[in-house]
Amino acid sequence: MENTITPRLLFADRQGNICDHPDLAMLAASGDQLVFPAPDDLIPLPPGSRFFYLPQCPPLAWDDELEQVVCLDELDAGEPCFGVSAFLPPAYTRLLLPAVSYADKDYQLPLWAYTAVGWSPEINKYVVAARRVDENRQWEPDRFDDREVVAGVERQLARFPDNRLVHHLRRCALEDHCFAAKNFFLGRWECPLPVSPVCNARCLGCLSWQPEGGFDASQDRIDFVPSVDELLQVALAHLEVAENPVLSFGQGCEGDPILQAETICAFARRLRVEADGGTLNVNTNASLPEKVAAMAAAGMDSIRVSMNSPRKSTYLAYYRPRGYTFENVLTSLRSAKEGGLHLALNLLVMPGVTDAPEEVEALLGLIGEYEIDQVQMRNLNIDPRLYLETVGATGEGAIGIGGLLDLLTAEFPGLEIGYFNRYLG
Ligand code: SF4
Repeated sequence: MENTITPRLLFADRQGNICDHPDLAMLAASGDQLVFPAPDDLIPLPPGSRFFYLPQCPPLAWDDELEQVVCLDELDAGEPCFGVSAFLPPAYTRLLLPAVSYADKDYQLPLWAYTAVGWSPEINKYVVAARRVDENRQWEPDRFDDREVVAGVERQLARFPDNRLVHHLRRCALEDHCFAAKNFFLGRWECPLPVSPVCNARCLGCLSWQPEGGFDASQDRIDFVPSVDELLQVALAHLEVAENPVLSFGQGCEGDPILQAETICAFARRLRVEADGGTLNVNTNASLPEKVAAMAAAGMDSIRVSMNSPRKSTYLAYYRPRGYTFENVLTSLRSAKEGGLHLALNLLVMPGVTDAPEEVEALLGLIGEYEIDQVQMRNLNIDPRLYLETVGATGEGAIGIGGLLDLLTAEFPGLEIGYFNRYLG
């Protein structure tokens, strides 16, 4: 391990006060492996990021005087010391994990994407191990003014007082602060159409369902299937006014929309009679190939397939499917292309797993074989320790998420790499 960095370690006390250490240098982690973040892997903390401290997880750092890694488990007064991580806004892919000791942790961290962060005295800024992968500025937090959202909510509720979906989106926009739901009330860009209260997977890090006794799901699932009329009211109201409209099934507040494919197909057929324009998109686990083919035939434009891995063993360990197979998902990729859909991969990225040599090789094969149009490099929100243990990864030999991004660009010049769905025009 060669020391090539200068950022300082950040640490927290039990009140959550965050400080930089005067002597210790920041380390980061790729899977289980401690690394010095390369200067190219560090960028100033993007606006809209959040800090988290990690109870029971003391930080690991580099001591230049001792020339060794040290664990800062206590502050001067004998108080416990905790590691600090950053949570990035959308458009940024995490390159490295925080370097902490998990030895004493007896709980699961909640569903966030923990990112290595330090303090750079040279530029007088916090720095994070991340890369911006999407230049679309439509999702910047400062483009969402809640005063305008509230006015939009009042307008749409007055127009559609009995539409359960509009009431559901009101809660998403104002209580859960879903940007896509806010877009509906602001009359622009990508609008969500949550449709499914159920799912046929049990992802370890599902945002909308978690078993009792573990960490909390971060969003409540929709508890009804909207009727085609309710979906059409929302969609047509959006298409009337929105610039670059995308109508998307498959949201954080639902199960998987593929289980409501009949409703989606009926909706798509009617919408295409009543309106032109707009991109009809579905974000899904793509577990049922015949439903993918049916949605393509009904007039959908694009599909984004979520996968944590192109390898069966890693996929099954995380998705824990009920009633479908990994091979079904691959068949769906083929069905999507045959049906003329724009095909995006929602790749759930974890440093030390996604960039492991066998994962990289499988990913390159998948993109080539199934002619993937876009890869969205999304940070997987989960306790890193839990995930590494579940999929049996260590991070040894990983090429780095930055290296993976560079390789994808070099190998597939026509492949779009990004973070968000696209309006297809
Ligand atoms: S496919 Fe989506 S809704 Fe289903 S368990 Fe996984 S994350 Fe949750």
